[in-house]
Order: sequence, then structure tokens, then C-alpha cells
Amino acid sequence: MEPLTEQEIRAAFVNCTKGEARRLSVPRDLADRPWGDLDYLGWRDPQAPDRGYLVTEWTDGRPRAVALRSSAPAVGQARRSMCSMCLTTHSGGVLLMVAPKAGRAGQQGNSVGAYICSDLACSLYVRGKRDAGIGARLQETITLEEKIRRTVRNVAAFVAKVGTA
Ligand SMILES: [Zn+2]
Repeated sequence: MEPLTEQEIRAAFVNCTKGEARRLSVPRDLADRPWGDLDYLGWRDPQAPDRGYLVTEWTDGRPRAVALRSSAPAVGQARRSMCSMCLTTHSGGVLLMVAPKAGRAGQQGNSVGAYICSDLACSLYVRGKRDAGIGARLQETITLEEKIRRTVRNVAAFVAKVGTA
């Protein structure tokens, strides 16, 4: 994806108030992120460990950002689970992330959930640039390009469910 500035990211949030978008933690090392290898930019909030954020390009060329809350991993949870975005399987490295819907639906308490890599680094797992451990990758015959397209599609479908107003 194309590099984004802090200002562009804060302006892109669809499911939190303007005040929240102004205050939330945006990574300080945006210039050093591997943008060319990212299908979306995702990060966890160092100030609030149950919060995460993802930003992705949208079809109209403007970015969309989604605020997420993660469920705390259950104690002793070492089951392998699969990220629904990049289909990487981790032991304990996938969390249920819940996003309030955009607009009125969100104000009424509606939300969308998905199992996502807990470090929100799907793009790097897909490209083999971050290792999720032994047996993390399915034996698949599809190409890297197809895996990337699938991840992009899954992220777009999730963002569309949250709402892109
Ligand atoms: Zn993932």
C-alpha cells in the first residue's frame, strides 16, 4: 500500500469519534514501516493493550481505518487457531477482534468480530517475512500473489462489514 501520514490515518477512522481518532496512539515509526509489503497497516495500542487498529486502502483511493478491541486470550489457551484474514495458523497468536460498526449501527451497539493475527502483521506472515512457527502455513498450491489477493479481499470484506461511510 502507499505510505500514509499520521494525519491521513487519524482522518481515516470510520468507527470512532473524531476525538478518539485524535487521541489514539498512531505508530511513531510510520516512515520506517515496510509499506510496499503491507496489505494493511495494523498495530496494537501500547497505552491500551486490548485495543488495535488497522488501516487499509479503499476502492475510492482514500484509506479507511478501523478501531478494534481484542478479547483477552483465555488462560491456558494454547490451541492453534487460524487468522481469518491471512489464514495463518498460530498457537495462541490469533485473537478475536471486535470492531464497533460505523455510524448509527455502532452507536446502537452493533459490532463485527473476526479472528485476526494478534500482532496485526498478516501481510508479513503471508510473505514469509515473519514466522508464525512450525506448521503455521497450510500446504497450499496457490501462488504468493493469490495469497496476497485473498488477504486483501478478506480485509476489505471485514472493513465493508464495519462500514466505510
Ligand atoms: Zn493474519
